[in-house]
Amino acid sequence: MTVIKRQTNVLKNYINGQWVNANSGETLDVINPATNEVLASVPVSSTTDVDQAVKAATEAFQTWKNTPVPKRARILFKFHTLLSDHHDELAKLIVLENGKAFKEAHGEVQRGIECVEFAAGAPTLMMGETLSGIAEEIDSEMFRYPLGVIGGITPFNFPMMVPLWMFPLAIACGNTFVLKPSERTPMLANKLVELFTQAGAPAGVLNVVHGAHDVVNGLLDHEDIKAISFVGSQPVAKYVYERAAANGKRVQALSGAKNHHIVMPDADISKAVTHIIASAYGSAGQRCMACSAVVVIGDGDQFVEELKSRADELVIGSGLEDDVLLTPVIRDSHRTKVLEYIIKGQEEGAALIRDGRKEMDEMTTGNFLGPTIFDYVTPDMTIAKEEIFAPVVSLLRADSLDEGLDYIRKSRYGNGATIYTKDAKAIRKFREEADAGMLGVNVGVPATMAFFPFSGWKDSFYGDLHVNGKDGVNFFTRKKMITSRYDF
Ligand code: NAD
Repeated sequence: MTVIKRQTNVLKNYINGQWVNANSGETLDVINPATNEVLASVPVSSTTDVDQAVKAATEAFQTWKNTPVPKRARILFKFHTLLSDHHDELAKLIVLENGKAFKEAHGEVQRGIECVEFAAGAPTLMMGETLSGIAEEIDSEMFRYPLGVIGGITPFNFPMMVPLWMFPLAIACGNTFVLKPSERTPMLANKLVELFTQAGAPAGVLNVVHGAHDVVNGLLDHEDIKAISFVGSQPVAKYVYERAAANGKRVQALSGAKNHHIVMPDADISKAVTHIIASAYGSAGQRCMACSAVVVIGDGDQFVEELKSRADELVIGSGLEDDVLLTPVIRDSHRTKVLEYIIKGQEEGAALIRDGRKEMDEMTTGNFLGPTIFDYVTPDMTIAKEEIFAPVVSLLRADSLDEGLDYIRKSRYGNGATIYTKDAKAIRKFREEADAGMLGVNVGVPATMAFFPFSGWKDSFYGDLHVNGKDGVNFFTRKKMITSRYDF
């Protein structure tokens, strides 16, 4: 695939309230996945840039930690207003660098704004606990304090929502922050910084260092970084978790996924297909909560026929076109890996009942791949086990709900799972036994809202406290206990 190059901007880092050039001259192209046009260049920063950002954040922390909590929260209220005022502009930027459909991007901006709404509740969220009279004339109190400088490392697939899972709450809790956005979608991060600064954030409170592995390692090894919040693929999540933990840091590392959707014999087929199509093919299947495996219970032929015919009707195109559902994958190199999975699926004996390579050949520009469906996939096949992160769906056949639940149990991942049924007994059994952290009942993308934890299980998460909700507050604060005697 030819990359179309023009004169482009080199993005800057944001350190101590200033836009600065990275120390290294090395850059990477930021590419529009729908056209392969170069949108900008992103610097591949070095550990020297990381050191400068951490130094600024460490200094800013000395004042920021003592800034009254309501005053910190007021900056988030302002930020919220600015994000809402720029809703369409932010969504368009997401479409440009990530490729997803405008409607999806608009929804992503909304999810991000909700994280800011949650974080603005810091005065309540940071309240401690007290108990009068733990012994004669003795009381106990618990106060929450920030940790210090937090490092955030984010993926390409939610360039707005994922950074907003992290820095608003961390900063509202009194920490300062160094963000390393995905080098494939770095432009949105700079826009967020611009708006956060406009909202009144003091210099050094939020810093951005662009780049790749060196910046990540610089954050993981830096002694002044107290905690790491990571979201990305499984091998990198495990690596980040282990290296940061070995360096004595608090870590939350959200990882890859393989989400199973169980279609029970009594399910409303038309509605189930609508939800599965949106979940599997929206954002080109590049969502950590995307449906990638469907477990059809009983005789599912009617369901499979309808899924296939609705996939045939999908509107494929650039995210800026109207009514588009299936957009390009992030890079041509990623699509090449997906094509290898398609070949592997055929070699291992799955039935390729819809081949998205047809549409790929028809589209002359962009990293498009049509909706792809494999039937009669078994749990031991590579395409059933590994995260493909593309518009490829595996259909597994099962005789009973127990067998379907067993497939979920055997998966190394446990981010999400959904059941389509009206049967209350089946719903309860699914709720109790499905081995995943975020379940949907007749819901295609059961991603949690900002006030609940984003609760992946098994290899979909490394750590203890998840992002968002009370887990997020606990992650970004440490508790101090005071025991006081008054009859002294
Ligand atoms: P990725 O792992 O390639 O990159 C994530 C971040 O890690 C980026 O900032 C990148 O620069 C950095 N990175 C990549 N390779 C590295 C290495 N070898 N050493 C150090 N740093 C490295 O992930 P991605 O492709 O950007 O995002 C997609 C992945 O993220 C999918 O696996 C998806 O499931 C996952 N994800 C998970 C969740 C969740 O909540 N569990 C949410 C969103 C995305």
